[in-house]
Amino acid sequence: MNHDRSRDLYDRALSVIPGGVNSSVRATRPYPFFIERGDGAHVVDADGNRYIDYVMGYGPLLYGHDMPDPVRAAVQSHASEGPMYGAPTEIEVDHAEFVARHVPSVEMIRFVNSGTEATVSAVRLARGYTGRDKIVVMQGGYHGAQESTLVEGGPDNPRPSTAGIPASFAEHTIPVPFNDEETIERVFEEHGHDIAGVLVEPVLGNYGIVQPISGYHETLRELCDDYGSLLVFDEVITGFRVGGLGCAQSKLGVTPDVTTFGKIIGGGFPVGAIGGKAEIIESFTPSGDVFQSGTFSGHPVTMAAGHAYLTYAAEHDVYEHVNRLGETLRAGITDLCEDRAPEYTVVGSDSMFKTVFTRDAPSSLGDQCADGCEQRTDCPRYDHCPKTGGDVADAETERWERVFWQEMKERGVFLTANQFESQFVSYAHTEEDVEETLEAYKEAL
Ligand code: PMP
Repeated sequence: MNHDRSRDLYDRALSVIPGGVNSSVRATRPYPFFIERGDGAHVVDADGNRYIDYVMGYGPLLYGHDMPDPVRAAVQSHASEGPMYGAPTEIEVDHAEFVARHVPSVEMIRFVNSGTEATVSAVRLARGYTGRDKIVVMQGGYHGAQESTLVEGGPDNPRPSTAGIPASFAEHTIPVPFNDEETIERVFEEHGHDIAGVLVEPVLGNYGIVQPISGYHETLRELCDDYGSLLVFDEVITGFRVGGLGCAQSKLGVTPDVTTFGKIIGGGFPVGAIGGKAEIIESFTPSGDVFQSGTFSGHPVTMAAGHAYLTYAAEHDVYEHVNRLGETLRAGITDLCEDRAPEYTVVGSDSMFKTVFTRDAPSSLGDQCADGCEQRTDCPRYDHCPKTGGDVADAETERWERVFWQEMKERGVFLTANQFESQFVSYAHTEEDVEETLEAYKEAL
């Protein structure tokens, strides 16, 4: 494959954009390929190379790169009419009503512009509503580029995970291992009455993928109820992907107090949202006293795209299609790993999948199978299925990024270059794409 034009573009970008990219994960080595256009499940780069795309914008593109006709029409009409006003529009109400109808925990919702903005607002909401300061997060969980959650370490030694955050900010955050009931119970015994909320991805999608074990979210729900803390599900990735229109919370059967959304809910345009019980969400200004505001919030083009996206999914076999292909991919890659690379583990559910490059590291939480893992009955490596962020921490990131990812790219398959980030199947992917992908995995493994 020729990448001359991408290399030249990267060279230009390095002079005016830090690291040459506008989001860190895009800086693939030795240089990123610049995308010229999308085409269904494929992207074409600036040198004319074509790839089957499983990055899918890091999750938002449920339909791939071709918008279904009603989505295209909704986007075009709202873009040409405005595009935005700084005053309310009907489409915001339509979209809010749709989400409240389909997501069990959502009675009210406030739309913002990114997943980060949603989690920032949710943390402020939890603190404002409860009058408490402490937030519990999961090690390996990701909630965007925000001060309260970019924290590493354990419950007794939290510290900022990046330069630029005062150490004193991290004092209010308690990182715990995902799926570890003993630790969360101890943390609540010690700090329960100071905990404003537990912020958790129902499935860790940025570090693994790690599925919840049976009963873990129920335990979080009970502890939050007992201590008057809010259970906040960060469904920025899982929302309208895992569990279909009811989101991961409907699949798990656990009802959070607050849910953050992003990605799919905006139909491919910048978006975030905070939904939940009316009594809690009404704490936001102007109905309550927790300040929340945004010039672009509820942007009409985004609302039109998101509403048309979800309406289309309600009327077509979208989730059946993406989940079936997801299962075919996971099963196919599992077979290939068993044969060619038995020390690697295939993870994911629904339309999410990833191969975790951990050599023989058994799970720290033993051999129980994760909930929602569709390979639980005959998984050859059930005791290696990661249960915590720590189980994934020793993954061979160099092998993934410098070797495997490159090998797949050269075979025309675009995977997430970061070892820890999920890959996504879209409605535009076909059985043939999956077959071609498995062939590429076979050669690359
Ligand atoms: N929460 C989760 C679970 C995410 O996966 C992400 C982004 N991948 C965010 C929050 C932040 O969203 P954004 O990048 O739109 O700010």
